[in-house]
Amino acid sequence: MASCAGTSSMGECPRGLHEECGVFGVWAPNRDVSRITYFALRALQHRGQDSAGIAVGNGKTVLVRKDMGLVTEVFKDEDLQAMQGKVAIGHCRYGTAGAKGWESSQPHLSAINDVIIALAHNGTLVNFDELRRELIDAGVPFRSSTDSEVAARLIGYFTHATSHLRSGIRKTMQMIEGGYAMVLIRENALYAFRDPHGIRPLVLGKLDEGEWVVASETCALDIVGATFVREVRPGEIIRISDDGLISEEGLPPRQTAKCIFEDVYFSRPDSVQDGKSFYKVRHDMGAQLAREAPADVDLVISVPDSGTPAAEGFAAELGLPYGTGLVKNRYVARTFIAPTQSLREMGVRLKLTPLADVVAGKRILMVDDSIVRGTTSKQIVRMMRDAGATEVHMRSASPEVVWPCFYGIDTADQNELISANKSVEEIREYIGADSLAFLSVKGLMSCVPKTGYCRACFTGEYPVAISEKYWGDHFLPGNRPRNLYPDQVPDVSFPPSSQE
Ligand code: SF4
Repeated sequence: MASCAGTSSMGECPRGLHEECGVFGVWAPNRDVSRITYFALRALQHRGQDSAGIAVGNGKTVLVRKDMGLVTEVFKDEDLQAMQGKVAIGHCRYGTAGAKGWESSQPHLSAINDVIIALAHNGTLVNFDELRRELIDAGVPFRSSTDSEVAARLIGYFTHATSHLRSGIRKTMQMIEGGYAMVLIRENALYAFRDPHGIRPLVLGKLDEGEWVVASETCALDIVGATFVREVRPGEIIRISDDGLISEEGLPPRQTAKCIFEDVYFSRPDSVQDGKSFYKVRHDMGAQLAREAPADVDLVISVPDSGTPAAEGFAAELGLPYGTGLVKNRYVARTFIAPTQSLREMGVRLKLTPLADVVAGKRILMVDDSIVRGTTSKQIVRMMRDAGATEVHMRSASPEVVWPCFYGIDTADQNELISANKSVEEIREYIGADSLAFLSVKGLMSCVPKTGYCRACFTGEYPVAISEKYWGDHFLPGNRPRNLYPDQVPDVSFPPSSQE
């Protein structure tokens, strides 16, 4: 599902999960850092299409340009030309916490005494509301209602108190809770830091003359010609400047809990994690799904593009023919919220068209990356039958999504998640398929190279505690999130001591 455009098959995002953002940072004093950032953001565009922004540090100050729209819409050549410097960060946003307007676009600029900082954030802070209120009580002004601005203001607040930016970041990390990967610049330095569970991804890479880059995914390193060095460690703060790269522990790492949906869907297939491409992970998921839920059919097809690697793996595992049965309109790029069911259906038809001469008279098995609300699956199954398929079997390469996400993925509430409300048989009946199966959680975990994943949207076991105030009515009556690590809930009374 990632974003509504990008790799998703859905025009109006009816399936319910959307990535929040992509971030990038570069420290390269003798290069065109704004253009490097521009190209990296284009590689990360699938992570968010609401707004895009670049901030550049030129040794004296920080300049920012950001606006609503795709990266290519926001930046013209002359904009990039005007943003020369030695260090830059970039951001593409799918808005979740807070409003979606210009004020919520990133990077956020903040002034700390004479120093300007710009911050870009991927993730969600589960306690930002309290922190925002307390900052307002402390006289700190806000321009947006986003959690990212809360982080920027906290860093400013604590940097002011400690006269040291890294201390300000560290103290902010002690206060904020959730999943986050952040990049920040001042006029002459780049900082990158990540939540102590490592929920949201952040990787470190090197350009050929030793300059540094950080990015949400390795596909952004590839596009700017950087080589992967390592992940930014959970809880780590990295500072890159003329003094080189300095790493320090912002917070002790906690139990690693990387978002498993990066593997299932969000990350681009050519990005790599723990030495394995997401394409290969998804191909293996399809093969595992075939072992768990085989079917006697004439043709395996995918719901393009995000279901394709798993569909290929499914077909290969069973020795079945694989073909193209649905064509994706690649030019339906932007999110829209369709107000009525018939317009939503039109949105799906705009995005996906069945190939009648491929599927007619055949028993078809369709593999999708996931089934979240079920409304799209229902329409695609009907399209297949209208196109003449004699049987339509559905497989989801993701386990059943039963619980909402609070760590940077915009999910539907539990009452909209079809698996929270219906049995597999009831879902099969609802979408009108001849058979339906989901990959098991155990099967999914057998396809990823390492352990240490957040799986809360499948299991309801959340690595970062969610306060009742925050989860409000996101759950069905009687359902409560279970906190996996109750001993790792910090005391975040505000404001903490300003003394180092
Ligand atoms: S709840 Fe699901 S989508 Fe959210 S971070 Fe955890 S695995 Fe990812």
